[in-house]
Amino acid sequence: SSAAPGPVERLTPDDLFIAVKTTGRYHRQRLELLLDTWISRNRPQTYVFTDGEDEELRKRMGTHLINTNCSAAHNRQALSCKMSLEYDTFISSGKKWFCHVDDDNYLNSGSLLKLLSQYSHAQDVYIGRPSLERPIEATERLGATEMQVRFWFATGGAGFCLSHGLTLKMKPWASDGTFMATAEHIRLPDDCTVGYIVEALLGVSLIRSPLFHSHLENLGLVSDVRNQVTLSYSTVDNSRNTVNVKGPFSIHEDPTRFRSVHCLLHPDTPWCPRLL
Ligand code: UDP
Ligand code: MN
Repeated sequence: SSAAPGPVERLTPDDLFIAVKTTGRYHRQRLELLLDTWISRNRPQTYVFTDGEDEELRKRMGTHLINTNCSAAHNRQALSCKMSLEYDTFISSGKKWFCHVDDDNYLNSGSLLKLLSQYSHAQDVYIGRPSLERPIEATERLGATEMQVRFWFATGGAGFCLSHGLTLKMKPWASDGTFMATAEHIRLPDDCTVGYIVEALLGVSLIRSPLFHSHLENLGLVSDVRNQVTLSYSTVDNSRNTVNVKGPFSIHEDPTRFRSVHCLLHPDTPWCPRLL
């Protein structure tokens, strides 16, 4: 059962393990923006999982850049290969909370710590935003028989977190490469597979949080931007989907709005314009 809300645990940034999923072609296009903004404030607890070596990025991140050697293809196997390594690296870290984000997410770690401190890392906690209005239905293949299963999952594109206690229970289906086999077993993407293990196999329910955001929702409607846990963006040509923040940068200078959000949260950042 999941923990009841209420400030139950004092957390520090050191209790977090933050995994960022990326791919070679997004190193310049997406990752550098994150390094300039939220990652710069969360270096010790953030690990970037990618699929190719990058000298420049290696210089900037050192051992916090993890080259998974997973394929750079955008298919189920390649993505679950990365999630599998995120999981294994978290388990070896001994941290209290595993949080996953995509490379088009802004993470506000202050809000995240506030949220997670309402739960105990020793209990079973899976928290994020469901991407669908209803539980997903999947077919489990057990030898010759097929079974329908229904479960909720947190969309990877909005980020999600798992408590240490829950990740230990996930081991039989997630550790040392078994995550990839589990994903193949139900033929679903990495984030759905996490939901399958947690909800369908372990009977633990997803805790829905409105503080996580993907670009599947209308980001222009997000109010109280400074207190959200994650944000995202989509800037595909004529269909911009970003949060609404006034300055300090124009839409031309800061199309994703992440630099403006970052200056709102951390005005002391050297590249943020000073009012004085
Ligand atoms: N991604 C990846 N390999 C790929 C394509 C994408 O690891 O071949 C990662 C990407 O870096 C991002 C996540 O998968 O962290 C989601 O990708 P994207 O935002 O492009 O797609 P969408 O949000 O539309 O699913
Ligand atoms: Mn995306």
